[in-house]
Amino acid sequence: MHSNLQGVRVAVVGGDAREIILVSELSRLGMKVQVAGLPVQDSHNNIKVYQSISDAFKDAQAVILPVPGINKDGTVYSIFNDKPMELNEKILVALPAGTPVFAGFARERLVNMIKRCNLRLIEVLKRDDVAIYNSIPSAEGAVQMAMEATPITIHGSSSFVLGFGRTGATLARLLQGMGARVTVAARRDVHLARAYEMGMKPLKFQLLQDHINEADIIFNTVPALVLTNLLLSKASKEVVIIDLASPPGGTDFDAAERLGIKALLAPGLPGKVAPKTAGQILAKIILRLLAEELNHK
Ligand code: NAP
Repeated sequence: MHSNLQGVRVAVVGGDAREIILVSELSRLGMKVQVAGLPVQDSHNNIKVYQSISDAFKDAQAVILPVPGINKDGTVYSIFNDKPMELNEKILVALPAGTPVFAGFARERLVNMIKRCNLRLIEVLKRDDVAIYNSIPSAEGAVQMAMEATPITIHGSSSFVLGFGRTGATLARLLQGMGARVTVAARRDVHLARAYEMGMKPLKFQLLQDHINEADIIFNTVPALVLTNLLLSKASKEVVIIDLASPPGGTDFDAAERLGIKALLAPGLPGKVAPKTAGQILAKIILRLLAEELNHK
């Protein structure tokens, strides 16, 4: 399927367990993978390990950065590397103009550097299909956290899912499949209609405050402060909140603590609970995009 990628030289720098899977998938397809900042070995001709980003970038036709790209201080996100690896314009400008640079998502600093160096940034997590694939391990991870944090079963629980986008819909279905009584709080009528069709209880977001006391577990997927002090004060003291929205989440965690409510922020679930699946998802998408990118040249 990706035979046209055979022999293509790609740099993979930094990352976590997901990128290790990615490297093995790329090399399995016959690509030349130049790695820095990951504990992989020069096992055969297809993988070469380098000590610096510049060396790994040499002659690369594409660059794959980790899912979170670079940290705020400009170093590449890399959980295995003790020595921080800085990614700067001096290093990037050595790549030929138009070289595709993949990342899960990019902070402003990375976006600007890539623009100034005339490279092509591809943020894979911004894609709908990737978000839907990733919602599977995210939902499983959220349920796992809820099971560990509550003294009750998911089965028979009153579980509220806030937001019915890509993650919320998958999570609501998983909970329902486990026998939970699922309430979906959403602001769009189309989402409420779909939740109803799926046998869940639809709840207009504005009415959440009148029903929040019914929840045993609340899963938040809304990336905005929705679980405010006011709402939390109306919830049961025994409720458990699993907040999946990207940091800082959608919960007033200080208020939750004051009220004695257990609220957990749950970032990066795919990489934590299913790094192999998450790595395979990345590999599948990046391979397809890479084939498109390189064929257009
Ligand atoms: P999504 O498809 O855009 O869904 C977001 C949902 O939130 C939509 O239903 C949206 O409703 C709703 N929403 C947004 N702002 C709202 C507001 N102010 N009030 C009420 N509802 C609001 O996003 P997603 O892919 O599901 O991701 C959701 C969040 O989870 C993001 O922050 C994402 O980064 C994070 N995430 C985390 C993990 C993890 O491992 N923890 C994994 C995947 C995703 P409308 O359609 O009406 O806008």
